[in-house]
Amino acid sequence: MSVESLAIYWHPDVLKHNPGKGCYEYGPSPLMSVDEPHPETPERLINMKSILEKGAIADRLVWCEGRHASREEIERFHTTAYVDSIFEAEKNGPTRIDGGGTVVDRGSVDAAFAAAGTGLAALEGVLHGPHPRGYAMVRPPGHHAARTMGDGNCIFNNLSIAIEAAVAQGLERIAVIDWDVHHGNGTQSGFYDRSDVLTISMHMPLGSWNANHPESGEVDETGEGAGIGYNFNIPLAYGTGDVAYRAVMDELVRPVIDEFAPQLIVVACGEDANQYDGNGRNLLSMRGFYDLGRIARELADQHSEGKLLLMQEGGYALTYSAFCLYAAVEGVLGVEDPMPDEIAYKASIERPEYPISLIPVIRKQWLDATEKRGLGRVFAGHVEADPA
Ligand SMILES: [Zn+2]
Repeated sequence: MSVESLAIYWHPDVLKHNPGKGCYEYGPSPLMSVDEPHPETPERLINMKSILEKGAIADRLVWCEGRHASREEIERFHTTAYVDSIFEAEKNGPTRIDGGGTVVDRGSVDAAFAAAGTGLAALEGVLHGPHPRGYAMVRPPGHHAARTMGDGNCIFNNLSIAIEAAVAQGLERIAVIDWDVHHGNGTQSGFYDRSDVLTISMHMPLGSWNANHPESGEVDETGEGAGIGYNFNIPLAYGTGDVAYRAVMDELVRPVIDEFAPQLIVVACGEDANQYDGNGRNLLSMRGFYDLGRIARELADQHSEGKLLLMQEGGYALTYSAFCLYAAVEGVLGVEDPMPDEIAYKASIERPEYPISLIPVIRKQWLDATEKRGLGRVFAGHVEADPA
């Protein structure tokens, strides 16, 4: 197989999870006459699958079967009590497990086990061939789920379950790049005291949102104990846009990955930073997602023998999320003539100067907060050179 291809892992049971209808993510309101579907709807993945099957890059994609995870595999990350609670919630019918918008209903257990297992199938292909680049097209998403609780539409933390499986197979340095527009708090908390898993999250600055999401996503959450300097939060201004996201990848993410030299890169691949997403405010277009995919692939080629695992996370705009996933995949593949973006607002609305001006601020904050421990030392030279 050519290295210029990507394996797509799919299992139809991920469509069995149905969070229902109401006021967007929340329950119905007596003030409304018409309910709308919960944004984490099966149709979002149906459209993503469709564009990958029908688009011009279809012949460069290799479709592979996903599978269900075993309980043992899931409990490498989650506690037994938490997994039990998901089975209980399913028996009880529609249940909001986080006091917010995360619903478990009939079919959710099958979908959650298929999502975790399909991520593991993709990991196996990435680590042991024949596909060094794999994308797990899964839902419900995972990066908000902590070891002991669900959050933010996430039941099981699919990418963290895959990371624990990779660690069990002997990997010693795994890097997470989370470009979903929300802070990857569950992944952060899961590996907060460890130096073998570097967690990087770039996100809009929402802060803590409820008891199941106590993390702030601020730069000063750098890790604890041996993990200090191995968690890098990059809160981005609302409206950051394509140009500044590219600068963040090149000037903040790339140097830290270069220093860590991971054996595997795992991407929390959400598209909810796109311009039409009801859950995000960061205004990326297809061009921005192309660059995210391109840079992730470059880093994997440079450090991890091309080993790159993309795990689907958020992305709720029914049409544009699919186009933006397609653009990210084009970037991973290095497509030279990407699909034109017929939908985005024009780039002229973008004002990258302000978010780019925050890059040296974030460098200094992380350097100070880590006190140069762990990977915190990476920016010492930069900060001295940055203009005051
Ligand atoms: Zn998200």
